[in-house]
Amino acid sequence: MGGPRRVGEFEVIRRFFAPLAAAAPGALGLADDAAVLEVEAGRRLVVTTDTVVAGGHFPHQASPETVAAKMLRVNLSDLAAMGAEAFAYTLSVALPEDVDDDWLERFSAALAGEQDTFRVTLIGGDTVATPGPLTLTVCALGTVAEGRELRRSAARPGDGIYVSGTIGDAALGLLALGGELDELSADHRQALIERYHRPRPRMELGARLAGVAHGATDISDGLVADLGHVCEASGVGARLEAGRVPLSAAGRAALDAAPERMATVLTGGDDYEILFTAPTGSNDAVERLSGELDLPLTAVGRISTGPGGVAVIDERGAEMVLERGGFSHF
Ligand code: ADP
Ligand code: MG
Repeated sequence: MGGPRRVGEFEVIRRFFAPLAAAAPGALGLADDAAVLEVEAGRRLVVTTDTVVAGGHFPHQASPETVAAKMLRVNLSDLAAMGAEAFAYTLSVALPEDVDDDWLERFSAALAGEQDTFRVTLIGGDTVATPGPLTLTVCALGTVAEGRELRRSAARPGDGIYVSGTIGDAALGLLALGGELDELSADHRQALIERYHRPRPRMELGARLAGVAHGATDISDGLVADLGHVCEASGVGARLEAGRVPLSAAGRAALDAAPERMATVLTGGDDYEILFTAPTGSNDAVERLSGELDLPLTAVGRISTGPGGVAVIDERGAEMVLERGGFSHF
């Protein structure tokens, strides 16, 4: 037997994580008991945390680069959904034995790239060994100007419902990872898998929605489920038109091959797009924003007086019956 494949806890922090905290003076080099942060006057601190577990949120064999991207991005998406600007995060890692120095090297290098992309800095965390699967918890910190935060509870009857980007790609990507969708081109399959592994949190959109949007959330559990969350929080109902849901070229190809996959598009999770509602007459403002951000923003339905949940209407105007509203881990 050789020595351990991984250096000790303190060495892991010093070697792989402390460099990621170098840009944040308040992180104190990850060498003190906690970080000390300044918050700008007139802004509110926005805090969110999400845990990802190997075998559940990403495949056991996922690359360290994939794990780093997904773990951070799902958290940033929650900040975007609140209209907040991200600035820092903590990272708690529970490492199984087979995570060695080489893995940590690639993981921390990928995180450095993510930090550049999203302008966030590591400021603290925890490092432990586990007999269980690789488990990573990020706590993301952001700020938003007072009164500009976006809430799920602010949807009103008559509001139009909009979504960013395209819907369903991640859930279809998960099917592709599982060996399905083999009638699609390799390019289309790859595009869908990429959307599952590397969500694109809509930070710019979230920061620009104050004054345009009423209710807002990010789509993590599935379009129907997350629209349901907005309805519940706002005490309203919703009519969602399946035929208007924006699809990527790969998503369209998957549906052309098997139209019943529409259920996966509507209820599958992991898209990390933004869903928002905006009062009637907002179409011009939404279109302008879409142009400025170079991001499709598509009207997909309307908020109704509630409560009444989400009615999903198919292309012939009939109500669709979906087996499950969205993804739940429990
Ligand atoms: P304590 O025993 O007081 O919890 P730790 O040894 O866990 O202290 O952590 C020491 C310092 O290193 C703390 O500032 C902590 O935030 C930081 N730290 C530990 N693990 C990580 C990690 N995975 N990522 C970032 N910072 C970490
Ligand atoms: Mg600790």
